[in-house]
Amino acid sequence: MIGNMMKQQDYMHLEDQFGAHNYHPLPIVLERGAGIYLYDTDGKKYFDFLSAYSAVNQGHSHPRLIRALTDQAQKLTLTSRAFYNNKLGLYEQKMHETFGYDKVLPMNTGAEAIETAIKLCRKWAYHRKGLREGEAQIIVAEGNFHGRTMSAVSASTDPSSFAGYAPLLSGFIKVPYNDPEAFEIAARNPNVAGFLIEPIQGEAGVIVPNDHYLPICYDICRERGILLMADEIQTGIARTGRMLACDYLDIHPDILILGKALSGGILPVSAVLSDDPVMLCIRPGEHGSTFGGNPLACHVAMEALDIVIQEGLADNAAEQGNYLREILIQLSSKYPIIREVRGKGLLNAIELVRNEEIAWDLCLIMAENGLLAKPTHGNIIRLAPPLVISRSEIEEAAGLIEKSLKSVMNKV
Ligand code: PLP
Repeated sequence: MIGNMMKQQDYMHLEDQFGAHNYHPLPIVLERGAGIYLYDTDGKKYFDFLSAYSAVNQGHSHPRLIRALTDQAQKLTLTSRAFYNNKLGLYEQKMHETFGYDKVLPMNTGAEAIETAIKLCRKWAYHRKGLREGEAQIIVAEGNFHGRTMSAVSASTDPSSFAGYAPLLSGFIKVPYNDPEAFEIAARNPNVAGFLIEPIQGEAGVIVPNDHYLPICYDICRERGILLMADEIQTGIARTGRMLACDYLDIHPDILILGKALSGGILPVSAVLSDDPVMLCIRPGEHGSTFGGNPLACHVAMEALDIVIQEGLADNAAEQGNYLREILIQLSSKYPIIREVRGKGLLNAIELVRNEEIAWDLCLIMAENGLLAKPTHGNIIRLAPPLVISRSEIEEAAGLIEKSLKSVMNKV
């Protein structure tokens, strides 16, 4: 069938027939994005309140990013790391200046960066901490989401992530999230080398821990010689109202893991940052990636960071996020279907009192009304628009959320 004669049903049918069934998308076929808006193949306009799981912080098709992409694509895209290129060093310097670490190790997807951090932590444990090879343990939190690779699913406590994929990797100790005592007890194990943690758990449903949780864990890590590895793949790059969610807590993790919005959603760019005593534990030939650090990715990521800083997106996320939560809290007193409103900056969620179907139905109704969001863990809906959203757009979007809540209440 010729592209422009196809209907949304036809596109969905193609994905269903020829694609693996590892996702359950909302039945909307998108073809264009601009700023905070997405457009489907019928030209219908939507507020994007998912931002590709926080990868599109700078807004869809930001003109500066598209220019950076197309300019660099016409010069050089990929060299592999067999040679130097004229973008990688500049990008690494910018990452150093922006985040304050000696070195960066460039990768592509978030999960790859997590793999890299785990490998780096283990190397450090054997080279520097003096653990016997094979004994290093990494503490992770229950409810975590660190991606879909074997080590990430081995670290997971969610059966839908790990069930059926055995044999899983060993070397992870799982403790409750937001529980400093449980962490302290686990950290007494002398083989613990690292603590891999999301400052806010995104996929678990935007779980914001107490302010004292990470600082206490950080102090314990300092005392015991444990590396704190912050997974800021979803929370980083201004999403929560600061460049990093850890910035709220005055924590400088030993290993920082970034992805998603590091490229503004243009192409997969992830990064692992640490200081020399950790990073230099990996030597030439011991880790790598064909695409990691490619000149196209580096050029786009430098522009993506400049946009975040120059457009003041962290401050805007903080301000609009506060405003959005204020409105949502008001809605929760009017619509008892909302059990809780939570979040930080523009990473927010409403938790509904009812079951999965209600969250799914509400998302369908919101889509009908012109706003796209997706349930996570059944009854929780994440609300995370691009960070370029304005106050009046928040008001307009909140109006659509209220309209949708009214309809869903009429249905139950
Ligand atoms: N870590 C966190 C906190 C995430 O939210 C995600 C993705 O949602 C990942 C890791 C995995 O990133 P990717 O999907 O790019 O592999």
